Amino acid sequence: MSTREGDPSNYIRKRESRAEHGQTRDLSYPPLPSALVVPCYDNHAHLEIADGDDPLDYLQQLDMASSVGIRGVVQVGGDLETSRWSAEMASKEPRMLAAVAIHPNEAPAYEAAGTLDDAIAEIDELAARPRVRAVGETGLDYFRTDESGRGAQHRSFEAHIEIAKKHDLAMQIHDRDAHAAVLETLMRVGAPERTVFHCFSGDAAMAKLCADNGWYLSFAGTITFKNADNLREALEVIPRDRILVETDAPFLTPIPYRGRPNSPYLVPLTLRFMADHLDTDVSMLAAQVSSNTELVYGSWDAEPVKQGGSPWDAAIDPAELA
Ligand SMILES: [Zn+2]
Repeated sequence: MSTREGDPSNYIRKRESRAEHGQTRDLSYPPLPSALVVPCYDNHAHLEIADGDDPLDYLQQLDMASSVGIRGVVQVGGDLETSRWSAEMASKEPRMLAAVAIHPNEAPAYEAAGTLDDAIAEIDELAARPRVRAVGETGLDYFRTDESGRGAQHRSFEAHIEIAKKHDLAMQIHDRDAHAAVLETLMRVGAPERTVFHCFSGDAAMAKLCADNGWYLSFAGTITFKNADNLREALEVIPRDRILVETDAPFLTPIPYRGRPNSPYLVPLTLRFMADHLDTDVSMLAAQVSSNTELVYGSWDAEPVKQGGSPWDAAIDPAELA
């Protein structure tokens, strides 16, 4: 029996785009990077979306991630179908935790169909399921949603904030071209205890403001992009205990593979880039980010971790830290 062949029943969407920024994409998966010595996590991925000419399903992607030291993934939904899938898969797969939400660009469509309230009510139910540890991605997107859809977007965002607070879950924010409105909303209604800016896209000043409020910044492959000085400056000014890392797979693949399918096994590329930029050791950064990740989402392990603290303690080679 082969487990290495993509099983179409193990994903529910296929990314169709063959072009990005007007250029034809290379649809092959990048090679495996060398493994991290200190394991880490991917705190935001969409494993229900298969990508590339030869799609990898979620199990293959998790196996590859494990092989390079990525212990677990937060699988993120964006509508009812993907949120149900995320909750269901996380309940069976120890390397997966789930986040559930109606994405800010989906909220207007539900509103137009007259089903936004029902959809939010179902997200509230899904949020109570075991191993659903976050509400997300929710937030505001002024890039893809125009004026006419913003009322629904704001209403949905505020409802999701309430759901996160009610269930004491983390919240993952999608903020595209809407920094001021997202911050204003969080200040006005009060942010959940553990609030994460997924794929942080602001600048150093906004990063500081987020960190000062105790919020987390999750960096994606975009921080490796040539034109992303704002993200590198943001990384420099925040305390290390606010940093998270993600792929947003299958999107936002880090350099030198930009445009190709992304997958959690590529987290080491982004993490190494961040460590280089901070002039620190990648193992130190991985340990810090892992600890941050577990504080935000809890442990991935189905069984409570036994005495001795972090499950990866045994994996630290003191020579590497010397
Ligand atoms: Zn996403």
